Amino acid sequence: MSLPDPEPTSLYAAREPIFPRRVKGSFRTLKWWIMLVTLGIYYITPWLRWDRGPNLPDQAVLIDMANRRFFFFMIEIWPHEFYFVAGLLIMAGLGLFLFTSAVGRVWCGYACPQTVWTDLFILVERWVEGDRNARIRLHRQSWDAEKVLKRAVKWSLWFLIGLVTGGVWVFYFTDAPQLAVDLVTGNAHPIAYITMLILTLTTFTFGGFAREQICIYACPWPRIQAAMMDEDTITIAYRDWRGEPRGKQSVEGSGDCIDCMACVNVCPMGIDIRNGQQMACITCGLCIDACDDTMDKIGKPRGLIGYIALTDETRERAGKLPKSVWSHVFRFRTMMYTVLWSAVGVGLIVALFLRLPINVSVTPVRNPLYVTLSDGTIRNIYDLRLRNMSGEDKWFFITLTAGSPFSLTLEGEEGAKVMVPANETYQQRVYVEAPPGSDGATEEHSEIRLWVANEDGTERVSYDTVFNGEDD
Ligand code: SF4
Ligand code: SF4
Repeated sequence: MSLPDPEPTSLYAAREPIFPRRVKGSFRTLKWWIMLVTLGIYYITPWLRWDRGPNLPDQAVLIDMANRRFFFFMIEIWPHEFYFVAGLLIMAGLGLFLFTSAVGRVWCGYACPQTVWTDLFILVERWVEGDRNARIRLHRQSWDAEKVLKRAVKWSLWFLIGLVTGGVWVFYFTDAPQLAVDLVTGNAHPIAYITMLILTLTTFTFGGFAREQICIYACPWPRIQAAMMDEDTITIAYRDWRGEPRGKQSVEGSGDCIDCMACVNVCPMGIDIRNGQQMACITCGLCIDACDDTMDKIGKPRGLIGYIALTDETRERAGKLPKSVWSHVFRFRTMMYTVLWSAVGVGLIVALFLRLPINVSVTPVRNPLYVTLSDGTIRNIYDLRLRNMSGEDKWFFITLTAGSPFSLTLEGEEGAKVMVPANETYQQRVYVEAPPGSDGATEEHSEIRLWVANEDGTERVSYDTVFNGEDD
């Protein structure tokens, strides 16, 4: 007898709306301050000016795509210096590992843009529609005039925040004051409007409607974090040995948890921390504030929910005192992350100070590999790209290593020097020749070194390449 086919199971679950209640407390205050600082930095930065002289933009932070340059105050990164950007990204990654290893998902709970903008959107929602109970009532009621009006106001404000967010992002890519004028007068590049529209809609959707769904389903970090955390990582937990059995305080033998649901009602992820560690918990600390408030009201000590490491949980259960916070923060793993982070940082600073304001790259012309002139001289051709990264026009001498049996000439130039305008990349075709019958002319490959130096020889860079002789 065959069994009937099981009912097909849907992998899709509709989102249950979450209505976080307003909460006051030290973690909430900290989050407000972090929001103020992070959004302040984001919105103000494109308007900061930095004088770099007459030939360069005066925007302090600018990603200049047209000229393929990144400006960060006194630092200017050229395309061939992308390793600086890579280094900063590695530092950001290691910093994230360090903080997650020490104190769990603090990035998620306090500083992630998704968290910050969602907080802002919830704040607007509360202003317009009221606190949790009023919002639940509004959600359930039919689309009457009140609901239409409140939703229209809320969505308009969300859209405005999204628009400003997208607008500020495009200011990082070109001169902000000029772009602001162009945007208003309709003269900005279509790409600017399209980028703004995309960012407006994504901010509107992610902060307004997707919220915790982004953290749970779209972001890879909750899945990666497990590898960063261990039993000594400080994270948020419910002290069930103190809180259980939950219920009315009047009942004999009950724990400290009165099952008031305050911790659940304030949670922006809609979870119950009393069920243990969950992937959805972003460790924002709001349930701590809510529960501490309840504990104050019923005259019990604070900390039923709090920051605690797994090892301390075990100690507390056994009636012992927890270890000091520093013993959790300064561990082998966190020290290793700190050492690696510092090593990359020091490396970048050293590279920054050692770099020269000139850079050269050489591309041999391989078609043909060499040319035989009428007198038997063998000529190789190279395309030389010379970047003058200083703020003034400069003459540069192009030579071979002193005493080289080869000779060098520049296409279209009388001597061996070229003028490269300030902050520009100059391309010069170079001929290197080996006299007839010389070693260079007859050997298949010879190593040569091209030198580029400024007029007084204080800045000098070299590039090693190969000269191709007759390969008979
Ligand atoms: S359980 Fe607590 S810490 Fe975790 S997301 Fe909810 S409110 Fe934040
Ligand atoms: S806020 Fe505290 S007392 Fe209230 S349900 Fe949560 S853990 Fe229990």
